[in-house]
Amino acid sequence: MSEHVDVLTMAREQLAIAARYLDLDEGLHSVLAHPMRKLVVNFPVVLDNGAVQVFEGYRVQHNSSRGPTKGGIRYHPSVDVDETTALAMWMTWKCAVVGLPYGGAKGGVKIDTKLYSRREIEKLTRRFVTEINMVLGEWRDIPAPDIGTNAQVMAWIMDTFSMQAGYTVNGVVTGKPVDLGGSKGRVEATGRGVTVMAQQAAKTIGMDLSKSKVIVQGFGNVGSVAARLCEEHGATVVGLSDAIGGIYNENGLPVSELVHRYSGREGGIREYKDAQQVSNKELLEMPCDVLIPAAISGQVTKENADKVKAKLIVEGANGPCTPDADRIFADKGTLVVPDILANAGGVIVSYFEWVQGLQSFFWEENEVNDKLERIMTTAFQEVEATMRAHKTDMRNAALIIGVKRVADATVKRGIFP
Ligand code: NAD
Repeated sequence: MSEHVDVLTMAREQLAIAARYLDLDEGLHSVLAHPMRKLVVNFPVVLDNGAVQVFEGYRVQHNSSRGPTKGGIRYHPSVDVDETTALAMWMTWKCAVVGLPYGGAKGGVKIDTKLYSRREIEKLTRRFVTEINMVLGEWRDIPAPDIGTNAQVMAWIMDTFSMQAGYTVNGVVTGKPVDLGGSKGRVEATGRGVTVMAQQAAKTIGMDLSKSKVIVQGFGNVGSVAARLCEEHGATVVGLSDAIGGIYNENGLPVSELVHRYSGREGGIREYKDAQQVSNKELLEMPCDVLIPAAISGQVTKENADKVKAKLIVEGANGPCTPDADRIFADKGTLVVPDILANAGGVIVSYFEWVQGLQSFFWEENEVNDKLERIMTTAFQEVEATMRAHKTDMRNAALIIGVKRVADATVKRGIFP
């Protein structure tokens, strides 16, 4: 998008709206509007060609009133401390909305991973974790994957932290490979949760996901799984995209085949010829019933919200719709299932992974998926009831629940000393 979206301003604006509904005390509002800890590190890595490059990385912990902090680590060129702070704040509300005993955190390194070898990414990860390890820990702050990181990166994080502790610390990170203490179902969890939310939300507006046309922006972990599961539920996936661009076919795209052939291959999806080639911007405006933005933030703004044809938007990504876009959707009657509810499946199964690791007792995948679905469905019902009670939109309803739970915990604990 041409418009620059400042996600920290966006997150604070969302908090301010919820604070007005909750009649939140000014001091308490101020506590919640600021992260409790921001760590910025600059660290060198020796590249494969012998040159030394300095990288900037961040770990921001927003609020730990309800438990240790939790949140992903992102490797992307546009990562900065403000974006990381906004994402940490959203994690706090997300964990509270779905009732997990965590606060929110987020981390990242400013890097275009495409330009570096696997060995360089491993060295960067190990050095980054060493720089931030004093704020991490299984009872302190627990990272997970996000854009540009995956189970292998989580394995390196676990190993680096463990080497420094002198013993294996399984619970310091989630999203690990299953044979290293990861949970079955974690890779698919966010996309699965998005699909469950799409089913629930469709019902509330008299639609049936299995008879709907769906567009998914982003073909990474979240987008490709959500698209595949929507297709499994009978929906027709008519549009897909990755960072390079998108494809659209009103008769439907063969998602499983496309996942098999192109997932994880940037730009690959455009090699599929039996579809119209569209830009990412155009894709959002193509005809469909359900839109799942599952790439990056700031994709639907005041510039394009009125051109979006979907009646239901389910936010797989964090922050894809701006507050201006929310207002346009509220006027148009488009239902938006907000990120802090819609994409909570990842952190829910990360929580399961943490619990399983602490007990060294691991569950079967159907148990993981059943529990995930139950938690998300309950949270959806609570958010929907709050939306109706307060006559507000679903984002604000989710924030009202999340912010209130964190505010209550803060008040009950009291302000130290
Ligand atoms: P990923 O790196 O696996 O995939 C990102 C996808 O988005 C890729 O297909 C990439 O090509 C595409 N993309 C990047 N820039 C784009 C652009 N400008 N336009 C269109 N597509 C673009 O990342 P992911 O883990 O799938 O995360 C996607 C979003 O979901 C992020 O906002 C992330 O914070 C959020 N999220 C992820 C998880 C998780 O468990 N992975 C959990 C909650 C939220």
